[in-house]
Amino acid sequence: MSRLLSIIVPCFNEEEVLPLFCEKVGEVTASLKKDKDIETEYIFVDDGSKDHTLDLMRQYHLKDPRIHYISFSRNFGKEAGLYAGLQEAKGDYVCVMDADLQDPPSLLPEMIDTVEKGDYDCCATRRVTRTGESKVRSFFARLFYKLVNHGSDTEIVDGARDFRLMSRKMTDAVLSMCEYNRFSKGIFSWVGFQTKWIDYENIERAAGTTSWSFRKLCHYAIDGLVGYTTKPLEFAAWFGFFFFCISIIGILVIIIKKLAFGDPVAGWASTVVIILFCSGIQLLCTGIIGEYLAKTYLEVKNRPIYIVKEKDEDAEKK
Ligand code: UDP
Ligand code: MG
Repeated sequence: MSRLLSIIVPCFNEEEVLPLFCEKVGEVTASLKKDKDIETEYIFVDDGSKDHTLDLMRQYHLKDPRIHYISFSRNFGKEAGLYAGLQEAKGDYVCVMDADLQDPPSLLPEMIDTVEKGDYDCCATRRVTRTGESKVRSFFARLFYKLVNHGSDTEIVDGARDFRLMSRKMTDAVLSMCEYNRFSKGIFSWVGFQTKWIDYENIERAAGTTSWSFRKLCHYAIDGLVGYTTKPLEFAAWFGFFFFCISIIGILVIIIKKLAFGDPVAGWASTVVIILFCSGIQLLCTGIIGEYLAKTYLEVKNRPIYIVKEKDEDAEKK
């Protein structure tokens, strides 16, 4: 019996690498059809690209009806792209893959075998090295995984990529999580199911440049932390309690000193330092609370995760 594999590819300014991607993945899917009788559909999600990515997608769709595309009205981020792709996917197996060939398509047959045997609902990949990445970036990435795993019940695997193949059951579970602040690495782990991990060495982009600036990655990390652990809130409360205790001791010391020795006021500098320090801590804690409040605010507004500008059926009209 023939089965359908859906490959979801979020693309943001990927005109340089898209033709190469189609060629390489096409080779693998052709062999899947030949060896295992597995059909493939592609779902390209154009995340508001400013180059000719969308034109390419239109052309591909007109040439090959197995290739579908959705184009967003602006850049909504990779997470929104993944969600849109998952909603469109009709396959028995659903695979999520980057356009830049950093996710080796040659792993697909092994991933399908793993899920097909039935012991696992998901076959995911993780890179064991971080070659080609700056030291500072690796350091912050490691710090992020330590923090989020320390504070959360949901395990977020260090080095895990979004490249994974899921069964229909797991895909539906992921789709049932329709939150606005999406952090896929957390969502994939939160829904559970047995996952097999395949390790591989980091591969650099085939062409084009990464669209993740350090600032974007920091925002992504904060999304992950705020979305999967409330420990920072506890930390803020404990900090407050600690300084409350210290201030009580300080007040007692001052009163006793005054009564015993009638000490004149001294130490202006140290007073100012303490005031600055405490107000700094207060601002930090307010900031942490604000971060959670902002996320709640966005979630409560219930805005759509993405807005579609163009889809398959519009291709002929263009
Ligand atoms: N991407 C996207 N929207 C964005 C940023 C990235 O859809 O706002 C896509 C991008 O086209 C690529 C994938 O997400 O297919 C991973 O992005 P990239 O290779 O730039 O990230 P890195 O591999 O450096 O983490
Ligand atoms: Mg990449």
